[in-house]
Formats: sequence, structure tokens, C-alpha cells
Amino acid sequence: MRERLPKCPLCKSEFHYRHVDLELPFRCPACDRWLRVAHSYWYAVSGSLAAMLISGFVCFGLGARGGYLVLYALFASIPIFFFVVFWKMHFAPPKLEPSTTPLDTNVLGLNQ
Ligand SMILES: [Zn+2]
Repeated sequence: MRERLPKCPLCKSEFHYRHVDLELPFRCPACDRWLRVAHSYWYAVSGSLAAMLISGFVCFGLGARGGYLVLYALFASIPIFFFVVFWKMHFAPPKLEPSTTPLDTNVLGLNQ
């Protein structure tokens, strides 16, 4: 599978995923305009659901059953979640969309 990079919807340039912030608006390193992750909530939720599922299967495969399965799956899903997010950032980068500036520049009359 080929690694994919997040892409700026405004200037179409691709950049490293470390520039991406899932929660807050961030600046495109190429054109310096503000971007944010579209559907960032679902990006995070789908990641944690995937992590829970993988974790559940792994713990089940290791022989955990009943209450232990739930307990172990919850614990194991945390490192798996980071792995899933890491994987998604590399191979399924979030869709980006233009954002307004996080600071309310209208108040200062600086809005372009
Ligand atoms: Zn850009």
C-alpha cells in the first residue's frame, strides 16, 4: 500500500501529516491559509471503533472471555487506537477543508 499524504484543498499541495491537527484549525505549510479536518469527529470515532474491534478480536483470540474480554479489550484498545490513527494518517489521511481563522480577527478589523 502506498503512503498517502494530506492534501490542501486550496493550493493542492501535499504535506506531511505532522502538520495536521485533528481538533484545531491549522495552517497549510505551503500557502499559509487556515485549514481544518473535515468530519474530524467521525475520523476520531471511526478510529476508536476500529481500535475497539481489533482489540476485542485480539483479546478473544488470546482466550479472554466474558468480563475479562471487555476489560482487556478496553485496555488494549488504547495502544491500538494510536496505531490505528498512525496508520490512518499514513494511508487514509483525513479530508481537509478551508477554515476560518481560529482567532476572531473581525474584532480587530484584520479579516481579509
Ligand atoms: Zn495550501
